[in-house]
Amino acid sequence: MATQIQLAGIERVFHLGDSEVHALRNLNLSIAAGEYVAIMGPSGSGKSTLLNLLGLLDRPNTGLYRLEGRDVTTLSSDEQARVRSERIGFVFQSFHLVPRLTAAENIALPMVLAGMAPAQRNARVKQALKDYGLENRADHRPDELSGGQRQRVAIARATIMQPAMILADEPTGNLDRATGEEVIRLLEALNAQGVTLIMVTHDAALGARAHRQLLMEDGAVQHDQRRETSTPSTVTPACAAPT
Ligand code: ADP
Ligand code: MG
Repeated sequence: MATQIQLAGIERVFHLGDSEVHALRNLNLSIAAGEYVAIMGPSGSGKSTLLNLLGLLDRPNTGLYRLEGRDVTTLSSDEQARVRSERIGFVFQSFHLVPRLTAAENIALPMVLAGMAPAQRNARVKQALKDYGLENRADHRPDELSGGQRQRVAIARATIMQPAMILADEPTGNLDRATGEEVIRLLEALNAQGVTLIMVTHDAALGARAHRQLLMEDGAVQHDQRRETSTPSTVTPACAAPT
């Protein structure tokens, strides 16, 4: 599969008064299109910082980030916003919906910002409400929705522009187990359709479902492990003749 994300020598330092927090240190990572990656590790190890950089919500102090072959660190903020809008969907632990907008309006927001025509927008919102079982919640505001419904609105909003990748930061962190399970299944269904899924979680059972687990410690990737999948292996057998 084609390399979609390439990070090399990434450093992210936060300055808090006189002290410096080295959130990411010489981080190197490559992720292919269509992967399902779980990012795990203790609190403060840099998981959210990494996800924010991947989502172009933040910039590294140094290092290279190539997204789909293009160096995105040197883009202007406007250009980054455009890449984000077209290629990246973000799902947060605390949903980040706009409180005064209805479910339908929240879902439509990325299309409004992208300048899409109302007719096209409305058709897509209608379909998304149907896909995510929110048809009878279209006109409700976030405070009138359950946690699971809010996260479904957030996922519908994150995917409405048909992004190439979904970045999810503890998407089940504010949900009970059954509701969280439902949300994970929605995200996994998107991955099954080819969308790259990169999810931060501190739930080991959830992390184990991903095809690849990254363990972060002190701002770097300490372990990078791929899980055997149940699909028939296409790996060259060990006994194959050397080339
Ligand atoms: P995680 O998501 O793994 O819990 P974070 O990426 O949020 O970790 O944070 C990594 C480190 O960077 C922590 O020490 C955190 O306090 C610090 N940090 C993160 N964001 C900021 C910020 N905006 N300003 C200052 N320090 C930050
Ligand atoms: Mg975090």
